[in-house]
Amino acid sequence: MKLHEYQSKRIFADHGVPIPQGDIATTPEQARIIAEKIGGKVVVKSQVLVGGRGKAGGIKLAKDADEAEELARQILGMDIKGLTVETVLIDQAANIKKEIYLGVVIDRALQKPIIIGSSEGGVEIEEVAKTKPEAIIHLPIGIRTGLMDYQARNLAHDLGLRRTHITQFVGIVEGLYRAFISTDASLAEINPLVVTGEGKLLAVDGKIVLDDNALFRHPNLNKLRDIQEETPSEREARKIDINFIKLDGEIGCMVNGAGLAMATMDITKHYGGEPANFLDIGGGAKADKVTAALRIILDDPKVKAVLFNIFGGITRCDEVAKGILEALEQVQTNVPMVARLVGTNEEEGRRILAEANIPTASSLGEAAEKAVALARGV
Ligand code: GDP
Ligand code: MN
Repeated sequence: MKLHEYQSKRIFADHGVPIPQGDIATTPEQARIIAEKIGGKVVVKSQVLVGGRGKAGGIKLAKDADEAEELARQILGMDIKGLTVETVLIDQAANIKKEIYLGVVIDRALQKPIIIGSSEGGVEIEEVAKTKPEAIIHLPIGIRTGLMDYQARNLAHDLGLRRTHITQFVGIVEGLYRAFISTDASLAEINPLVVTGEGKLLAVDGKIVLDDNALFRHPNLNKLRDIQEETPSEREARKIDINFIKLDGEIGCMVNGAGLAMATMDITKHYGGEPANFLDIGGGAKADKVTAALRIILDDPKVKAVLFNIFGGITRCDEVAKGILEALEQVQTNVPMVARLVGTNEEEGRRILAEANIPTASSLGEAAEKAVALARGV
């Protein structure tokens, strides 16, 4: 779950990271009042859960409250990468001398958090990784020891910070790391962390991505969820407890088990197709869940074929087959389908599908190949 910039920065501030003075507005009039209170130059920043808002025209500098109101009027309601701006953050403008990237993520290979720093701040770190990988510093953190003072100091040095900024910087790295750990985040980043003309360090932009699996420990954070973050189909899936992620391809996939779903996507790609989604209906899914899942898959007009890959363990193949038929009674569709059913009650499952003229395959490879051919109208 992604948090908005203003939410992320407030969490950072709670952990001692300096952020600009500011507040959020949902109307131009509110924006003016906030800007008047701040006095002087402000930035008007769209709060949408995508990166690169600046380039998209969603971040503008205002010289006074009049202009802040005017810019808020422009930005509120604006469409940024498919998301409508409903809130703007009005922040005191910073006099920026230097932009740094500072982030914490989990490194799966190292099985520990790592702090990432770069003197090439302000632009997306993925871009720096491509064009100037040597400008990125990786700092693994021992999960037992935590962040050590000397590590933060060395990082300050490696980023080329002046001696006068080191104490401030160390405090910020420690604060960011504490924010990351205490919220069970999978990412906490400040981009840019700026050095101002007054010699202060300030987190101008912030981003936190929370680990959904740990949200039950953080009811207060769960409340911050913005329903705009998810596509309508993803929201629907979460309600009925199906793991679903919308993708761009043409082969709809319905699978039981996350690992099997990943393998199904790989094999689909291997045979030249592109998966339209990741979907794990979970163990023991009954007909009603299959119906709901199929409805979600077929809601996507780009889907040209559906591939079922069911390994019957606790989930029974005949239940899934019944679910498919039930779904087809409710959802009218011409989209062709192919199923690979293996395991508990597989013969019964295949028989049910055969009666409904839905082809089955005995191996995943065969099923994927068929699905790709069906999607191409072969
Ligand atoms: P993003 O585009 O979504 O990453 O939004 P950011 O908040 O990172 O803003 C993008 C860029 O706008 C920053 O890297 C800065 O260069 C600039 N910017 C943001 N806030 C300020 C500010 O207060 N003063 C000035 N001069 N520039 C700012
Ligand atoms: Mn940014």
